[in-house]
Amino acid sequence: MSDTTLGIIGGGQLGSMLAIAAKKLKIKTIVFCDDVDAPAQNFCNKFISGNYDDKNRIIEFVNQVDLVTYEFENIPFETLNEINKLKAVLPKPSVNRLIQHRLAEKDFINKLNIRTTRYVSIDKKSDIDALEDFLPGILKTTTLGYDGKGQYPINSSEELNSLNIDFSKEYILEKLVKLKKEISIIITRFSNNKYEIYEPIENTHEDQILKQSKIPADINEKIFNQSKEWAMLIAEELKYIGTLCVEFFIDRNDNLYVNEVAPRVHNSGHLTINAFNVSQFENHVRAVCGLEQIPLKKISNAKMINLIGDQISHYRNLPKLENNEFFFDYLKKEIKEKRKMGHITILI
Ligand code: ADP
Ligand code: MG
Repeated sequence: MSDTTLGIIGGGQLGSMLAIAAKKLKIKTIVFCDDVDAPAQNFCNKFISGNYDDKNRIIEFVNQVDLVTYEFENIPFETLNEINKLKAVLPKPSVNRLIQHRLAEKDFINKLNIRTTRYVSIDKKSDIDALEDFLPGILKTTTLGYDGKGQYPINSSEELNSLNIDFSKEYILEKLVKLKKEISIIITRFSNNKYEIYEPIENTHEDQILKQSKIPADINEKIFNQSKEWAMLIAEELKYIGTLCVEFFIDRNDNLYVNEVAPRVHNSGHLTINAFNVSQFENHVRAVCGLEQIPLKKISNAKMINLIGDQISHYRNLPKLENNEFFFDYLKKEIKEKRKMGHITILI
């Protein structure tokens, strides 16, 4: 064992896979999560449960680790900022604050001359008729959304009027892109202009939840290069340390747009566990812990399928998989509709 103990905030499947990657690198992990049943407790060295704004519990956690990272972005900025005064938090809390807010995130990306969907901030005073330009669109809460939660498709201003929006929250209205395809880029930044970057991954969603990811993505060379360049530009501008994911839309005219940025490892990168010499999780741990950067090598093309809700049951009962198939059970206590329960990666 090395002497480093990595603290991970969040104990879902991403936290689990970070803990597994850390173990391989002989780094100890302590996971902090607000869910007493968090699956990552099965994989880390120590598990602490508590609310993300419970100062005493957080301090107890921070005292036992050398540095802190996180598996999801919806952590109060105050919490990360307070931790950062005691131990390094990577990626930096300011990066997380920027990206967890859909408006700030899109403003930032546009400033880099990178295309996003057209969008407008919505509040009580917004003149609904002036919004025609952004319809059909999707109304989204600016913060705390994931897997399509907090999103409402809107076709007309009447529909928007009749929605009875709860204006104690902030919203953004995004013009709907006529999608041809969605892709993502996973990139790990180690330091100035030092990266490991995976090839574009093609993603298919069902009900706004990721269903399938595959490499190679069926895209033209221009999009292949532009998506990688934009991901590098974003990571460099943020002075990011660790693994980051950029989600993209491609419209029917082959225009590329950044949809959103995830300041963390990402579901679409699960296939990197089996398809590359170093996974997105191992790269994240290597980058935040200051370990050696290893050049990426692709082992195989691959397809990853998310097992949502009771789709997991079939695989749990399967006696044997094919040699090119890898099944991951997140060991979540309860099967719930629309809940990501596990995934299967097939090398092709
Ligand atoms: P989440 O934070 O839930 O991942 P996203 O903004 O990525 O939110 O939206 C989830 C999915 O919904 C996207 O991957 C895409 O399939 C669809 N979607 C969201 N916004 C748009 C848009 N403006 N145009 C077309 N499809 C969209
Ligand atoms: Mg998304």
